[in-house]
Amino acid sequence: GREWHLVARPRGWPVPEDFALRQEPVRPPGPGKVLVRNEYLSVDPYMRGRMNDVKSYVPPYELDRPMEGGAVGVVVESEAPEFAPGDHVVHGLGWREYATVDARHATRVSPDDAPLTAYLGVLGMTGLTAYAGLLEVARLRPGDVVFVSGAAGAVGSQAGQIARLKGASGVIGSAGSDEKVRLLTEEFGFDAAFNYRAGPVAEQLAGVAPDGIDVYFDNVGGEHLEAALGAFKLRGRAVICGMIAQYNTAEPPAAPRNLAQIVGKRLRLEGMIVSDHLAIRPQFVEEVGGWVRSGELRFRETVVEGVENAVDAFLGMLRGENVGKMIVSLPH
Ligand code: NDP
Repeated sequence: GREWHLVARPRGWPVPEDFALRQEPVRPPGPGKVLVRNEYLSVDPYMRGRMNDVKSYVPPYELDRPMEGGAVGVVVESEAPEFAPGDHVVHGLGWREYATVDARHATRVSPDDAPLTAYLGVLGMTGLTAYAGLLEVARLRPGDVVFVSGAAGAVGSQAGQIARLKGASGVIGSAGSDEKVRLLTEEFGFDAAFNYRAGPVAEQLAGVAPDGIDVYFDNVGGEHLEAALGAFKLRGRAVICGMIAQYNTAEPPAAPRNLAQIVGKRLRLEGMIVSDHLAIRPQFVEEVGGWVRSGELRFRETVVEGVENAVDAFLGMLRGENVGKMIVSLPH
């Protein structure tokens, strides 16, 4: 099977030459393991961080080794009693056509309950991030005015909708194109939205939230975070989920310059990592699964075909070519 290796560590924006698609033999799985033919691969912003050789909450990708990431596939050979050929599983060995997965690190999923792609997005890691970030980290309360950046993406589009479903009194989103901004209000139910490329974020935010915000769901950092600090009411809360505006920059960011607002407004800014919130997963699957089935929560996916296009899908996601979750589909 073919698998993507990192062959050079990107500086700034990754380039196709940093990656190589290599053919490796497919072997029997071995005791306690299953051989999985991947059907869908996830490409995610955090993977950019794993391409750097720095200590972080996940170890860096090794050079000339297959990269890892979320994937859903079908078991084709099993040497583990809990799985049989034909079972679908979600696991962490993406970026490749065939994966040999330790049964302890595979979770059975059913295409009868939801489309398999949902387990990488709306009912998977990005969905849980939105749910736990709002409820456990920002501690959303009914009546809050909520601002979400990266709002047309996988986490952001879900965070905005969950805020509304949980009783926020206003939900504002920002995204990088007029088309995405239209989607936010027309499809995802945001009360207001703006294109951050069309003018200063602080001015545009003040225009749609003249009375300020209570919660900021930060996917972007930089100028967006500065604008949110300026817009916060007293005792505002920010969930610092990601800072994608600086993942590919070589220079440190120029903003935020107004951190002193944290003092006077008694703000709480808290970073999150989704894997700390697995305890709430059953509640998340139950509640969000219900909203998906009833149609109260909409989700979009951007699907790129073919393992050979996985790097392009990843780079495209970093550039904003996706609406909702970016997924790579393999033949099946
Ligand atoms: P998305 O689906 O949101 O895709 C990334 C989006 O980021 C792009 O579509 C693009 O949209 C936007 N973007 C890219 N560059 C910039 C920029 N310079 N300024 C503003 N927006 C930009 O990805 P995810 O939903 O998977 O992830 C969203 C965020 O959540 C990321 O920061 C990620 O790191 C973080 N995250 C954190 C987790 C955690 O545990 N802490 C878990 C999962 C995700 P546009 O066209 O609008 O620019």
